[in-house]
Amino acid sequence: MPYIVLLPSSISRCFYNYEKMTDNRSSEYKRIVIVAYRLPFTMKNRSGTLTAVQNSGGLVSAVLSLTDRMRGQNPSASMDKTVWVGRGDYDAGLINSLEEVKNTFELVPVKIPDSINEKFYGGFCNDLIWPLFHYFPSMTVFGQGYFESYKKANRLFFNELRKIIRPGDFVWIHDYQLFLLPEMVREEFPEASVSFFLHIPFPSYEVFRIMPDGHQKAILRGMLGADLIGFHTHDYAQHFLKSVRRSLGYDISLNSVMTEEIYSRADAFPISIDFNKFHDAVLLKETEKYISRIRKQKRDRLLIFSVDRLDYTKGFINRLAAFELFLERYSKMRGRVIFNMVIVPSRDTIARYQDMKKEIEATVGRINGKYGTLDWNPIIYQYKSLRFNELIALYSHSDVGLLTPLRDGMNLVAKEYVASQRQQYGMLILSGLAGAAAEMSESILVNPSDVSQMADAIFEALTMREEDKKKRIEAMKKRLQDYDVYSWAEDILRTTVKVKSDSWSFRVRIINRDIENRIISTFYKAKKPLLFLDYDGTLVPIREFPELAVPDLQLILLTERLAAVADVVIISGRNKDFLDKWFSNINLTLVAEHGAFIRYSSGEWESSLDQDASWKEKIRPLMTRYTNRCKGSFIEEKRVSLSWHYRNADEDLSSLRAVELKNELEESIFNMPLQILEGHKVVEVKMSGYNKGTAAKKLTASGNYDFILAIGDDKTDEELFHALPDYAISLKVGKGPTRAKYSFLKQPAVTAFVRRLVESRENKTD
Ligand code: UDP
Repeated sequence: MPYIVLLPSSISRCFYNYEKMTDNRSSEYKRIVIVAYRLPFTMKNRSGTLTAVQNSGGLVSAVLSLTDRMRGQNPSASMDKTVWVGRGDYDAGLINSLEEVKNTFELVPVKIPDSINEKFYGGFCNDLIWPLFHYFPSMTVFGQGYFESYKKANRLFFNELRKIIRPGDFVWIHDYQLFLLPEMVREEFPEASVSFFLHIPFPSYEVFRIMPDGHQKAILRGMLGADLIGFHTHDYAQHFLKSVRRSLGYDISLNSVMTEEIYSRADAFPISIDFNKFHDAVLLKETEKYISRIRKQKRDRLLIFSVDRLDYTKGFINRLAAFELFLERYSKMRGRVIFNMVIVPSRDTIARYQDMKKEIEATVGRINGKYGTLDWNPIIYQYKSLRFNELIALYSHSDVGLLTPLRDGMNLVAKEYVASQRQQYGMLILSGLAGAAAEMSESILVNPSDVSQMADAIFEALTMREEDKKKRIEAMKKRLQDYDVYSWAEDILRTTVKVKSDSWSFRVRIINRDIENRIISTFYKAKKPLLFLDYDGTLVPIREFPELAVPDLQLILLTERLAAVADVVIISGRNKDFLDKWFSNINLTLVAEHGAFIRYSSGEWESSLDQDASWKEKIRPLMTRYTNRCKGSFIEEKRVSLSWHYRNADEDLSSLRAVELKNELEESIFNMPLQILEGHKVVEVKMSGYNKGTAAKKLTASGNYDFILAIGDDKTDEELFHALPDYAISLKVGKGPTRAKYSFLKQPAVTAFVRRLVESRENKTD
């Protein structure tokens, strides 16, 4: 539990060195450690000679491409060889000496006995997680002992990983076989940088919760062991975060989970491809022979293709039904179109897969029998793996890619097809239920259960005008080129560094009686103390509406007593009128609207701000639109700011809208003297050039204070904490991440603490 740090040693350090200490934590990585169920090679033992053959599949293609490029670009850098931890029965020494492996990875095989693997991989992973996460609950098997084996297998992975992990490693854990591993790493190596990437969909909470509660919690906690949790799409990330909130009860703030032990972020990083590899391969000599074979086969006909692994998620039967309906409905197309359906062998020792294969073959046979002629077979069916150049030839010379999975985490084939459009333009028909659909809106998106829609889509794609195809394909190509597999991996790496460094600087340390006593004793001794007190959430609890949060008599009296023994500043987001109404009779300084106005004790309000408020006419309609789209939210207007509050609105919807609003605002305020602030359930636009920090700087500069203390609860107070000199003591209210040195768990603790401060100085004898 790395973040509930209140060890005696940290208390004995002075109050002031914490932030400096954390600055050194994020450094560049020296080595990448990949952990995935499969090693990137399959070992083949041919008459006593062991050889390694590179595996196929999305993950391997992506990581191998990345590693090749990193090595090629950076041969002299101090980057160590990438390590890959995965299941394997051979000894590490033996496989690492193989010629095919030597120049790529250092492999760390994890031996998993068959007795465990059967229930771990065959059971929990493939019979439970795979169908459930692909929205096939009726196919989900909750087998006896599955989860126990899953835990054991994750532990076996960890046992190997812990032997090799070292400072400077970036540990990148992949996929649903290893949900529990990140937490194991964080428990033993809290300083390691860990990223987890899920290659399949994360289902909506309503589907996720079908699993037993214990499984749900273990999986979510396991994933939260990573600093960064990556998904293919924004929707998957949101499903995960919602499940965290519902199942574990943790608060989520802008895609981050923050508890005393956890600081993790979940976000979308759509996996991509090595764009140039596919694009360039079209013109390679090795591809030519396959292209001429296709040309011969095609003659003047149009070619449709699909390539998928054998799996029930891929929607083969619906796809065949759509092609059949297309032939039925568009009879003039008969004899003019060939559908080349390639199925890559996978899991076909399992009865369910064998049955599916038989059904596909029977359907293909029936359609060919029904429509075929002496010189035309409508469907060419291949059950085999294709060579890379053969695949490229198929991609580059097909008129239509018909990729219609019922569910798919991403679907890399769709991206590879688009990247291979070079000598002619084809058209992509893509299932809206594939992750790739989120980025490929220029394709013809279809519902894979709507056979009629798919049949029409085939006709539309085959008859689409050349300029139209070109425009759509080029738009998608550009996107793939801009965000290829290297950008994807670098994005994940870079974001992990950021999250890790944030987690250090926001590390939460809960205040206790000992620390309170130390602060009080320093305050007691101080010659010239200064206190900054935020109002909402600090002096008074947060209420449903701001006008309900008024100070009671006790608080007023306490503030008066405090102002008699120290210089006091109430530093608030509230407007001048509110602060005047309640505090103007007390001898203290008031800061209104997050630093826009300052009223020195007994003086007039001062502001150095430009009073031109014409910017509000641009921002108000935008916020009004969001208020209309999100029931329960409201706008608050102040002299120098406009705020959109969403604390009374639906939690899921409003968090999403807040992110959207922020994005829109960022574009709208470009080149305007404005800034965007995020508080607790509020997005605020205000004039720039000031904040609580600038106000605090002004106020601390004017006196020779030997004791400064600041208490606040939200993000605007972080600027205050940040602006104070090193020796100041900053205290946050609430459990979230903070720059403050210590945190109070709840607001009432602040009042009790302030009372102790007051009493200490009132009783001062010297
Ligand atoms: N692929 C392959 N061998 C083949 C045909 C395809 O290795 O014979 C590759 C293809 O290039 C793609 C991957 O397999 O990179 C399939 O990834 P996708 O995301 O489409 O589906 P998944 O198999 O991961 O469900």
